[in-house]
Amino acid sequence: MMWFFKGIKKRIKTEKLNDKYKIKYPSALEGKSDYKCPTDAIEDQKWVKEKCIFCEKCDLKPTYNQDLYNINNNIPGLFKKSFYLYPVDSGTCGACNTEFDTIFSPQYDANRFKIFLSNTPRHADALVIMGVYTEGMEKIIENAYDAMPEPKLLIGMGACSISGGIIGEKIGKKFDIEILGCPPSPYTVINAILRARGDVK
Ligand code: SF4
Ligand code: SF4
Repeated sequence: MMWFFKGIKKRIKTEKLNDKYKIKYPSALEGKSDYKCPTDAIEDQKWVKEKCIFCEKCDLKPTYNQDLYNINNNIPGLFKKSFYLYPVDSGTCGACNTEFDTIFSPQYDANRFKIFLSNTPRHADALVIMGVYTEGMEKIIENAYDAMPEPKLLIGMGACSISGGIIGEKIGKKFDIEILGCPPSPYTVINAILRARGDVK
């Protein structure tokens, strides 16, 4: 709602999504801390970004750097004209889902980058898995992945899917793209995809 009024006042239609886009949390953390991290995201006083839930309790300092992703499989040339995402909730708190939905809002407008939402895995290029591992969703995720045409990608979104986060066990899959945060910001989601696709160096 705040953005709505800010947008009306300043006549902003969409975020520019360039390097000037800065938010405090989640952003890369720096420094050292011996705080007893609830998710073991501090090892030998150093930050382990995949496990961090950005609880702000330790002495690590935010850098405002939004490059919170791991690209394990570069896909330059692929999906440049259209990239269809099919989200699956394996067991979330709801916040990752909200941030994911926000990338398609007028503020972030992922469609302008040729990123779209698919309502079936049969038309999807990437499966976006959010939340912790749950037994009940294991087969459903497998079925969705099997139904997708080649080439296809697996994207993990949020600390829960990548490391188990604060609430459970990680999804035991190798993700092509890991989007970090708890929840990741919409900017990070779009940025990770653009970089994997080779649109942004
Ligand atoms: S912000 Fe919280 S979760 Fe992240 S390293 Fe610090 S204590 Fe751990
Ligand atoms: S990563 Fe964080 S925001 Fe996303 S589902 Fe897990 S607890 Fe919720």
